Amino acid sequence: MTQDMLTAPTPSRSSSRRHSPLQDAQMQLESAIHTLGYNSGLHAILSRPRREMTVSIPLRRDDESIEVLTGYRVQHNFSRGPAKGGLRYSPGVDIDEVRALAMWMTWKCALLDVPYGGAKGGITIDPRLYSRGELERVTRRYTSEILPIIGPERDIPAPDIGTDEQTMAWMMDTFSVSAGFTVPGVVTGKPHSVGGSLGRASATSRGVVQIALAAVEHLGLGRVGVSRLTAAVQGFGKVGAGAAAMLADAGVTVVAVSDQYGAVHRASGLDIPALLTHMSETGSVVGFSGGDELEGTALLELDVDVLIPAAVECVINSGNADRVRARVVVEGANGPTTAAADRILADKGVVVVPDILANAGGVVVSYFEWVQGNQAYWWTEKEVNERLSTRMIAAWEQVAQSAAEHKVSLREAATCSAVKRVAQAHLTRGLYP
Ligand code: NAD
Repeated sequence: MTQDMLTAPTPSRSSSRRHSPLQDAQMQLESAIHTLGYNSGLHAILSRPRREMTVSIPLRRDDESIEVLTGYRVQHNFSRGPAKGGLRYSPGVDIDEVRALAMWMTWKCALLDVPYGGAKGGITIDPRLYSRGELERVTRRYTSEILPIIGPERDIPAPDIGTDEQTMAWMMDTFSVSAGFTVPGVVTGKPHSVGGSLGRASATSRGVVQIALAAVEHLGLGRVGVSRLTAAVQGFGKVGAGAAAMLADAGVTVVAVSDQYGAVHRASGLDIPALLTHMSETGSVVGFSGGDELEGTALLELDVDVLIPAAVECVINSGNADRVRARVVVEGANGPTTAAADRILADKGVVVVPDILANAGGVVVSYFEWVQGNQAYWWTEKEVNERLSTRMIAAWEQVAQSAAEHKVSLREAATCSAVKRVAQAHLTRGLYP
């Protein structure tokens, strides 16, 4: 989103984007419905979004020309509370991608027992090609178009790929100006100065690392500080960069990281603080002098203890899953492993910690931000981090125990537990009329 990014190298192409994450999301739901013994009526309700909105966003560009972009907001379910989910700015965004991401948000919120349903939004745009003023106009117009369906009690957006806390501040301001008073609870992931929670920016990464270390210990791969553990992280944005830095702080040797332009590798461990400086100066991890260049997708095939895909969907697929050599895959991104790859990894004995558990730290602290905003009473960063940690570890233990008990994968255990909570809300509320 910065001017620097305009001068960054050309993105490496990924063929993985052809796979539909919606198909995988539907298959996961179908399997959970079958395991839980629910009927086809409940399946039909849960397989469709409750509400979707597609909007045209006319943009006056800086050169005075007019361009019309397309935006989406999909609310998959709100049987347990307001819909909740990120807003993505990416050239590949389409309605099916947003539908899949909205469904996964429903399961994630239910699994972590935060009182929300699931939603997702997106605009088909490459934010690196637009000025800050243009992005502000796009964000404000999109917000005003979806105004009738969002709000602190309806649907609460948050940052995702290509958006950040500034985007959330523009959304909050647009909504508030329309309401005639300040409504901090309409978005989370806002800057602290306008009601954002301490600890929100790092929450997803913090949760990913907590879960990764719990998984490593659970699988007997070693203990941080006692054994040498290695990790590779795909994606060096809000989730990936934070996860790499926290892993390194915890004593894990981060041997490789990548972004959409390429990857860097150093067997003895990358200097993550130096890499963060390089990133902020150049807009990419490429060209970092403290490591060797690596082909982006080769990172996924490194012999490491922990692999953290923290970029986009479907990067581990039937084309490369048999070459994954990590002991544990911890899904920082949403939907990075396709259903076919899941099966291949399971056959190889590679454990996958699913997205709806691994990257739930963001929505947990979003919930804390919403609670603080609604009460106008703010917690310290220590309080936020401790409450986050308690919830993440409890969810991990519950999922790990259920997977062992029922002899299923962590993804199946997590999805079943989440679907059951949402189904119970539906069955208790009944069908209207
Ligand atoms: P971001 O825009 O901050 O960063 C995305 C990163 O991925 C960038 O470094 C980009 O260069 C890189 N990337 C894109 N395509 C790539 C490719 N093919 N190979 C390697 N790197 C590639 O986005 P983010 O907020 O960090 O989100 C990343 C993932 O985490 C997404 O799947 C998102 O839905 C998920 N997620 C984010 C949050 C959050 O709080 N931000 C919470 C839960 C899940």
